[in-house]
Amino acid sequence: MLQITDLHYRYPTSTSAQLTVPSFSLEAGRHAIILGPSGCGKSTLLHLLAAILTPQQGSLHVAGTDLRALTPRQADAWRGRTVGFLPQKLALIPSLSVFENLTVAAYATGRAPEIVRATELLAALGLADKATAKPHALSQGQQQRAAIARAMFNRPALLLADEPTANLDDASCSASIGLLNTQAAAVGASLVIATHDARVLAALPDAAVLRLGGTA
Ligand code: ADP
Ligand code: ADP
Repeated sequence: MLQITDLHYRYPTSTSAQLTVPSFSLEAGRHAIILGPSGCGKSTLLHLLAAILTPQQGSLHVAGTDLRALTPRQADAWRGRTVGFLPQKLALIPSLSVFENLTVAAYATGRAPEIVRATELLAALGLADKATAKPHALSQGQQQRAAIARAMFNRPALLLADEPTANLDDASCSASIGLLNTQAAAVGASLVIATHDARVLAALPDAAVLRLGGTA
């Protein structure tokens, strides 16, 4: 699922040290935790795995694709087919309903959205009665579940989650990781979580761990 070799990335606008990622590989269907302190490059690595950013050095294969060989247009198409992304700030579109937040990506690709899929996902995530609500009318936990539903809508091979347990109490933390795990398993996806939260290690004891930034 993932093969990372000698990977280096530096933001074009940045003078700070480049991100260096240890070599790492992950079999299909297995989960991984990217662990390290704030600022060590976890979000950056997730964006590299999603082909949103392109490394300057090294090799990066995700779900059988050499990401460095893709043109920007191919990367967009590949990402839409392959990757579900749960951003730290959720990034639900405030003017759209929960249902529309799930299906909007399908419109962007010119395909008709699968209404049944959206309805089933919202039900599975306990949001059946929130489909027509706007994100601001949902609790924080409900908003995260809506964002998980959106990430899973296209049945991705890879589910990327950025700090999904930030600011959550222990019960909500377990619930959140449990949902991500269940949803990934439902479509056979690999789950990759970027976090500085050691509770995630306990919640996913079988996950491979990729440590960034040395001492975490
Ligand atoms: P983490 O997710 O582990 O907190 P990030 O990947 O967000 O770390 O950031 C890694 C480093 O890259 C930090 O030093 C951060 O300030 C820097 N950085 C993040 N985004 C940008 C950007 N768009 N341009 C320049 N530097 C950035
Ligand atoms: P930060 O932690 O740096 O504030 P977020 O965790 O809010 O950033 O992540 C927002 C970023 O995640 C966006 O800039 C975008 O690059 C990426 N992103 C979020 N959702 C998607 C998606 N569905 N597909 C591709 N990229 C996404």
